[in-house]
Amino acid sequence: DLVSISRALISVSDKTGLIDFVRALTKHGVEIVSTGGTRKAIAEAGIAVTDVSEVTGFPEIMDGRVKTLHPLVHGGLLAVRGDQDHQQAMRDHGIRPFDLVVINLYPFEDVRRAGGDYAATVENIDIGGPAMVRASAKNHAYVGVVTDPADYPLVLEALEENTGSLSYQFRQKLAAKAFARTAAYDAAISGWFAETLAIEHPVWRAFGGRLEQVMRYGENPHQDAAFYVNGDPRPGVATARQLQGKQLSYNNINDTDAAYELVSEFDPARTAAVAIIKHANPCGVAEGATLKDAYLKALACDPVSAFGGIVALNRTLDAEAAEEIVKIFTEVIIAPDATDEAVAIVAAKKNLRLLIAGSLPDPRAAGLTVKSVSGGLLVQSRDNGAVDDLDLKVVTKRAPTDRELADLKFAFRIAKHVKSNAIVYVRDGATVGIGAGQMSRVDSSRIAARKAADAAEAAGLKEPMTIGSVVASDAFFPFADGLLSAVEAGATAVIQPGGSMRDDEVIAAADEAGIAMVFTGMRHFRH
Ligand code: 5GP
Repeated sequence: DLVSISRALISVSDKTGLIDFVRALTKHGVEIVSTGGTRKAIAEAGIAVTDVSEVTGFPEIMDGRVKTLHPLVHGGLLAVRGDQDHQQAMRDHGIRPFDLVVINLYPFEDVRRAGGDYAATVENIDIGGPAMVRASAKNHAYVGVVTDPADYPLVLEALEENTGSLSYQFRQKLAAKAFARTAAYDAAISGWFAETLAIEHPVWRAFGGRLEQVMRYGENPHQDAAFYVNGDPRPGVATARQLQGKQLSYNNINDTDAAYELVSEFDPARTAAVAIIKHANPCGVAEGATLKDAYLKALACDPVSAFGGIVALNRTLDAEAAEEIVKIFTEVIIAPDATDEAVAIVAAKKNLRLLIAGSLPDPRAAGLTVKSVSGGLLVQSRDNGAVDDLDLKVVTKRAPTDRELADLKFAFRIAKHVKSNAIVYVRDGATVGIGAGQMSRVDSSRIAARKAADAAEAAGLKEPMTIGSVVASDAFFPFADGLLSAVEAGATAVIQPGGSMRDDEVIAAADEAGIAMVFTGMRHFRH
């Protein structure tokens, strides 16, 4: 599978490292063919080079718009070497194969960034370059294609190693990189058009999406917004059927997604579960024998915040649960399905949006998440870690009781869906205090405890619901103080990833307080 490199086609806008590279290629006996500017630069360095016009018998025309778009070039890039017909065509038409193609494209991105005028930007859309890159990348069985000057040393190393040849594996990798390059190039062009014509934001292209909905506004009224869907069949806000209510807003979609992803962590065959979301954070989550039971427990966690929230359920919405939910102002309900009776009950609230998702998404499924930052996109695999799959390690003298352990797992599952720093107090399958989005873990812990005290007071309870609770932390406690504040609030058991430099201190503090603590070994930051 080695291809001996004897003839190279070189056409580069960015001439960085070109001369050293070409000089090294000629040492391996490679014949060089080049386009106008590239040929000139190589010739000036005193290296023998053939002009592509000599190969094609055709001059570069139209200001370079047409220089390599010729069968004598593309035939040499695309020919299948072992194919009789292809060989015959090469003989008939005097086509000679290229084994190596070195191309970088017109600097469209640079011109766009510099804010070049319309005509100049259009002129910098490379046509022949991408055509050659794609042709040789497709034909990587016989051709190596180099699209990045940073790869010149690697190519030379590979040629040294194989005495003037390139391996199939190496050519394959070059081809993959080549298509990534042309894809990014075309994305930049379409992004520029989108920006120039103000038609659609290019971010959606990262997912290959389609415009689904233009919103009245974005996160705030002075922001424009649209919803793009990418055809991913994952059940959720993008694929759900909306039975009633106003169009979803930007914040509705964001919150509904958070709500449904959270509630999907609970297997409906095992338990009914309900999550209430505000500002993409849960303000109450609970499991129970029925949806109504779970909803009431979730609501009790923070009834003040639940007002105007998003409610997600992991089972078919029934009449009993619907009746409870419509008692307070709710923006959106999302469930896998709803009974006719429940649909009728919700119908009495005209503005309440009801979404039927069909089924629950798989929390363990692979996938990507994307976040835009200035100048680019951050892409990562989704957090599909599940506490049930983890090897939980008891690190304290006291092990959690069965009841504590069930609540600890419940709490950690929820902490995954709370913005960091996340602290989640749980008692009997329901959150009793959630601290979210604080810059210090101690603050999250205190806020969660205070909210629990407020909720207890509002409900006329004698003591805060954190007394006798368990607590989850999305990341390790860097110091004992966060843990101690949870102990002070009345928690009897703790679940956290572990891995702090001061784990020993934290464990000692837990032991001293008679607390049971387990380490998950997995962190659930969420921002
Ligand atoms: P040179 O500086 O050698 O004259 O031009 C090199 C640039 O021309 C490279 O960026 C290459 O991608 C581009 N190129 C090569 N052939 C063609 C063609 O036929 N049409 C266009 N528009 N660009 C080409």
